[in-house]
Amino acid sequence: MHLKSVHILFPGGRNKALTFSYDDGREEDRRLVSIFRKYGLKATFNLNSGQADKDPRRIPMHEWKDLYDGFELASHTVNHPPIDRCPLSLVAQEILEDRKAIEAVAGYPVRGFAYPFGSYTPEILSLLPSLGIRYGRIVGDSDGFSLPDDFYQWKATCHHNHRLMENAESFLAIKNDYRLSLMYVWGHSYEFTTFDNWNVMERFATLISGHDDIWYATNIEIVDYMDASRRLAFSADHSMVYNPSAQDVWLCVDGVSVIVPGGKTLLI
Ligand SMILES: [Zn+2]
Repeated sequence: MHLKSVHILFPGGRNKALTFSYDDGREEDRRLVSIFRKYGLKATFNLNSGQADKDPRRIPMHEWKDLYDGFELASHTVNHPPIDRCPLSLVAQEILEDRKAIEAVAGYPVRGFAYPFGSYTPEILSLLPSLGIRYGRIVGDSDGFSLPDDFYQWKATCHHNHRLMENAESFLAIKNDYRLSLMYVWGHSYEFTTFDNWNVMERFATLISGHDDIWYATNIEIVDYMDASRRLAFSADHSMVYNPSAQDVWLCVDGVSVIVPGGKTLLI
């Protein structure tokens, strides 16, 4: 019998996505945000609400809303402790209180998280869903473009000081459509000052921006989209698909890109 070919695409029928994750909310975020805006790039910023107004090197909280408008704000704990060595009940408070403080500014539920110092334990991993956290970014470089098996242990492609341009060239060279590819860059904006290498981000942004086949997204946009795609319900013969989510999902059906509108059943 004839079986259809059906697979998930990123929004717009794309196969590639790019995202960034920058930690600590330091004052260099102003310059980084301006670069991202100039090139039409989307990013996630992981903030410590307990440090913002104490440390003069950090962006004060009253600036967060305007500065980060259009980007994702995510939790990085209130005080940036090494959470693998803290009481679990304190870890829970570090995350919940940080969420509350950021949400009061952001105006939406904060569901992203970056592990301070990259530290975590199996107990923390199992705690995060009950704290309303949907993904956690770890540290390290995968030098790859795969979506993670577990969004709670989400490793980036590379730090901006680790083979950035080599990875970018490999990413841009991907032309196949048999997998979804994600380039994910992480770091701290103050490192551009420390290493006096802002040109690295300018060069990367110039190269990677403006491509029709790349979806520029925040971390949570990618997680939410993949969650929505996994909720699609197909009829047994794959002639019908129901999308129970509010957001549209793109499919490739027998080689043709199809939009499955949010809340609708579509004949495919
Ligand atoms: Zn940090």
